[in-house]
Amino acid sequence: MQRVASETTPYNPSMRILIANDDGYLAPGLAALVKACEGLGELDVVAPEQNASGTSNSLTLNRGLSVYTAANGHRYINGTPSDCVHLALFGLLEHRPDLVVSGINQGANMGDDTLYSGTVAAAMEGFLFGIPAIAFSQVQKGWTNVDAAGRVARSVIEHVLRDPPAAPHYLLNVNIPNRPDADHLPRRITRLGRRHASEPVIRQVSPRGDTLYWIGPAGDAREAGPGTDFHATSNGEVSITPLHVDLTDHARLPEWREWASKAPG
Ligand code: MN
Repeated sequence: MQRVASETTPYNPSMRILIANDDGYLAPGLAALVKACEGLGELDVVAPEQNASGTSNSLTLNRGLSVYTAANGHRYINGTPSDCVHLALFGLLEHRPDLVVSGINQGANMGDDTLYSGTVAAAMEGFLFGIPAIAFSQVQKGWTNVDAAGRVARSVIEHVLRDPPAAPHYLLNVNIPNRPDADHLPRRITRLGRRHASEPVIRQVSPRGDTLYWIGPAGDAREAGPGTDFHATSNGEVSITPLHVDLTDHARLPEWREWASKAPG
């Protein structure tokens, strides 16, 4: 992927970019992503009030949502990442965005983890309604070199705006190694790896004597060979995985039809 100086993409007042995340509206990664988008068009920021990592595609249906505006103009919602993008698209924004970007997440969203990711879900909410979308994550937690990750995001966003992909409707999952030179690392188009395993649940007794269970951390990657997101980032590359949402097992549809035709009744 070719790198392009930011000044080659002029400000386009008709370009509208919606920015969301799952770490909350105060997260350094959100500020880095806003900075990455500055000068490209009209920006709207709608993010969760609190950290909503791991909330996947959940929507809040059992209560009303409140929308607040921070001093910097960013809006925040007492809901999930998907709530934020959904409300933005169908309640808050006067115009439909041309692009939805999400992140920059604190921590990787690779392999099976993408199913749980609020960062990917926020982008996916835009994608589900026909808007191209990109999720950005830093591989290691801690916000080290988040500015460099922001420069990667800028470069990827400029690339898709300047040279739109053949598929005009896309969902990209970008994972960026935490390195000061991240914007000079090679970009690799990847597929999702697999983990297949999780660390055990952790049991604790609270100060009040109640037993609590904590979901354990994700296990090590089990399928992390060449071509996967795990492989790329562990080899010092920026991983870009095109995603789709259709969970149908297309390859096995004939087998299942055959099975169903033999079923009793
Ligand atoms: Mn997060």
